[in-house]
Amino acid sequence: MRLAIIGGLAAGPAAAAEAKRRAPDAEVVLFEQGPHISVGTCEIPYLLGGHLEPETTLQVLTPEAMERTRGVTVHVRHRVTALDPRRSRLTVEALDYGSTREEAFDRFILATGARARRLGVEGEDAAGVFTVRDLVDTHAIQRWLDTQPVRHVVIVGGGYIGLEMAEAMRSRGLRASILDPNGRVLGSTVACEASDLMDRAVAEAGVPVRAERATEILAEDDGRVRAVRTDRGELIGCQMVIVSVGVEPRTELAAAAGLRLGDMGGVAVDDQMHTSARSVWACGDVVQIPRAPDGRRVLWPLATMARRTARVAARNAAGSASTRSADRFRPFAGAVGVRAFGVEVGSVGLSLSRALDAGFDAVATDVRHVSRTRAFPEAAPIDVRLVSERGSGRILGGQLVGREGAALRANVLVPLVIGGGTVRDLAEDFDLIYNPPLGPAVDPLKVAASQAMRDAG
Ligand SMILES: Cc1cc2nc3c(=O)[nH]c(=O)nc-3n(C[C@H](O)[C@H](O)[C@H](O)COP(=O)(O)OP(=O)(O)OC[C@H]3O[C@@H](n4cnc5c(N)ncnc54)[C@H](O)[C@@H]3O)c2cc1C
Repeated sequence: MRLAIIGGLAAGPAAAAEAKRRAPDAEVVLFEQGPHISVGTCEIPYLLGGHLEPETTLQVLTPEAMERTRGVTVHVRHRVTALDPRRSRLTVEALDYGSTREEAFDRFILATGARARRLGVEGEDAAGVFTVRDLVDTHAIQRWLDTQPVRHVVIVGGGYIGLEMAEAMRSRGLRASILDPNGRVLGSTVACEASDLMDRAVAEAGVPVRAERATEILAEDDGRVRAVRTDRGELIGCQMVIVSVGVEPRTELAAAAGLRLGDMGGVAVDDQMHTSARSVWACGDVVQIPRAPDGRRVLWPLATMARRTARVAARNAAGSASTRSADRFRPFAGAVGVRAFGVEVGSVGLSLSRALDAGFDAVATDVRHVSRTRAFPEAAPIDVRLVSERGSGRILGGQLVGREGAALRANVLVPLVIGGGTVRDLAEDFDLIYNPPLGPAVDPLKVAASQAMRDAG
């Protein structure tokens, strides 16, 4: 059996390795258009900010190591330009040789991921304007910072990557400003709607968050960026711009192959990560997957999901018809965390606005409690928002924000959101750790759940 994997950053290599485990005799061939595979993209902001040793490699596996240790054939700098499931063939362009060939495979796994969204404004091609997606971007940003007289960096977009990049730039001693129409960070990504602890930390770190949109990027005569114009008519001088306004799934290949797409533009898959074509499975940022509270299939472009979907896709693509039904993707909880400027945020499930948009009769309960017993001078406030369904008390989501103990505490909500647990379960039946230097006698989550029992009726 010949299995082709298209895309090699996170989901692709995970799928390739799993396919070889499931079917050791299969020939698994991975195609990646870029020069690297298996990259730890999540560490990029920390490398650029100088938090990691400069020689730290973010390549988890080189192509050679993948071939040697996993038995997968790897072709980097090879772009798949067409997929024909009916003829069981793909067309691949060897970018270094300018040659194109057709290859026959029995099955395919599409792991083409997502690309960073662009602003679509005039001047966006100026030198010094970057998106952050892979190692090629990282090296380009590093080179710019090393060779140009950068003093001020404008970051367009206050999501978690924009925030991490703002912290990275401040760590390098540079000025940084964030432009985000919400006028605050993490407005839509982590949706910590009820807490201003992160916004205050960002302001205290000297990073203004301006409720403005970039409408034009202006360059010097030699093509280097010099300013960003905003919808308020402001001109913000800068020597570098980072555009961090989300991602969009890379579906050109899937669409041209006639695969069905979902309502959010990702590739539609069933619970086995099977696409609408008999021989094609898909995984990673390119697919729409079901979230736990309501089963709605959404794009959820995170490495955690890339790995889970890759495992399911690979087991099914490499397995036989009899083993397939066992390997299904179960709806995800949506756990997200971020830490910047000394404040951490953990979010699981739906924010209040997302729950209301999804049609739930949702209610939010906000409490502020402490990270450990108050006797400790280090005890810090934790803001908890618990989102539950009125009447049933079912937990739909929650967000925690604080200087310590906030993000990982949110993980407690994962089984509750997945399993349909209620605020009563959390308030009355969950024994969460109490130990003075670790957590107060009544955990902030339990305080919120008790309050939510009253709020949710
Ligand atoms: C700065 C940053 C920080 C992040 N931090 C976190 C975090 O803290 N936690 C978390 O869970 N997630 C994080 N993520 C998200 C995570 O990196 C992505 O979810 C993950 O990379 C998705 O993997 P993927 O393989 O599906 O897609 P991608 O990473 O987009 O990889 C797809 C690959 O397919 C290749 N490809 C596409 N089309 C073709 C073709 N036709 N032929 C050949 N190759 C092709 C592309 O070149 C690309 O290399 C972060 C992302 C970034 C950029």
